[in-house]
Amino acid sequence: YQLLAESDPEIAAAVDAELRRQQSTLEMIASENFAPSAVMEAQGSVLTNKYAEGYPGRRYYGGCEHVDVVEQLAIDRLKALFGAEHANVQPHSGAQANAAAMFALLDPGDTILGLDLAHGGHLTHGMKLNYSGKLYRVVAYGVSPEDHRIDMAEVERLALEHRPRMIVAGWSAYTRQLDFAEFRRIADAVGAYLMVDMAHFAGLVAAGLHPNPVPHAHVVTSTTHKTLGGPRGGVILTTQELAKKINSAVFPGQQGGPLEHVIAAKAVAFKHAAGEEFRDRQRRTLEGARLLAERLLAPDVLAAGIDLVSGGTDVHLVLVDLRDSELDGKQAEDRLHSIGITVNRNAVPFDPRPPMVSSGLRIGTPALATRGFGPEEFAEVADIIAEALVREPEPAHTERLRERVTALTERFPLYPNLSAPVLN
Ligand code: PLP
Repeated sequence: YQLLAESDPEIAAAVDAELRRQQSTLEMIASENFAPSAVMEAQGSVLTNKYAEGYPGRRYYGGCEHVDVVEQLAIDRLKALFGAEHANVQPHSGAQANAAAMFALLDPGDTILGLDLAHGGHLTHGMKLNYSGKLYRVVAYGVSPEDHRIDMAEVERLALEHRPRMIVAGWSAYTRQLDFAEFRRIADAVGAYLMVDMAHFAGLVAAGLHPNPVPHAHVVTSTTHKTLGGPRGGVILTTQELAKKINSAVFPGQQGGPLEHVIAAKAVAFKHAAGEEFRDRQRRTLEGARLLAERLLAPDVLAAGIDLVSGGTDVHLVLVDLRDSELDGKQAEDRLHSIGITVNRNAVPFDPRPPMVSSGLRIGTPALATRGFGPEEFAEVADIIAEALVREPEPAHTERLRERVTALTERFPLYPNLSAPVLN
């Protein structure tokens, strides 16, 4: 068969354009990252051809001797990385990992207690249009209006009142660490399972820069492509006791053949995540978010009615609070887009604007840390963002900000060796 550019020039052109977009802009969507070339090489390998229903050593297909090696390495590395008794690396995504974990431990109609989507939770934690909201009875906890932190007293009150079978801790848009021990105490008090979804902060945990939920939770789910920096995918960690239930909920419960090419790429990412370079990257990720928070809390920004949810950050992202600003989330997102900075608008707790507009921006630092940014570059990015948000756009100013963005992208080339094979 021909190469992509010859066999499908339309797709090749779109892939190439996406590469150029990633290279020439600053990626600050908090859930995104840049997978290393080695990860993409594994993911683009012949393993995509192989059926391997089952688990290493117990497959329903012949010819699995090599994918068994791959999947076992992924499992062993993941267990070692987080200190877990059991790992399942087959979920195709974070949402599938959550679906399988709930499928393993709950019956339809059971009650789950999760963080409200509007307060930073994820769709799979009980949003009404999601499977989690349709299959289970959902009770949501939120953050307090004063400090925007999860109110553990409220979690306990709701748990005692509704006796959920599962408490879900984890978030997509929250800027503080969770108290896993307290969540477990509450779960034990009402006989609930504790599931922690560490999709966002797994990379920080792997680097030892964030508390590890594994010792506290019955089950921990994650994506592999956010702070963890691997291929798109999901994983589940659990105890020996629940291992069988979790495995059979993934296959045959929820999925068919595992994506062994993605599992190979996960294994590569887990190997990287155990190294010093990765730890350094996570340190720069946190430092970048801290510098961003510091700049966005400066007097010129506050004077424009712009604040930060929870007053700062302990993780890899900040949530800009535009409730008191004329600028809404959509306009702010567009303004940053126009100077080459990609972020997403996001509802903030107690948001008066509708979700499609919203009063927040979620800005994350993982991808830029992967690109090599350190404190100096993050301080520059933070200043560019502050300048863009506080001043009415006018062409000369916008142009200057765009030039500052371009200067940074040129100092930190992304995938320098990649354009040729995709293009030719
Ligand atoms: N869980 C959390 C906390 C997330 O933030 C996300 C993705 O945004 C997911 C699960 C779902 O992951 P995926 O998009 O791979 O299904």
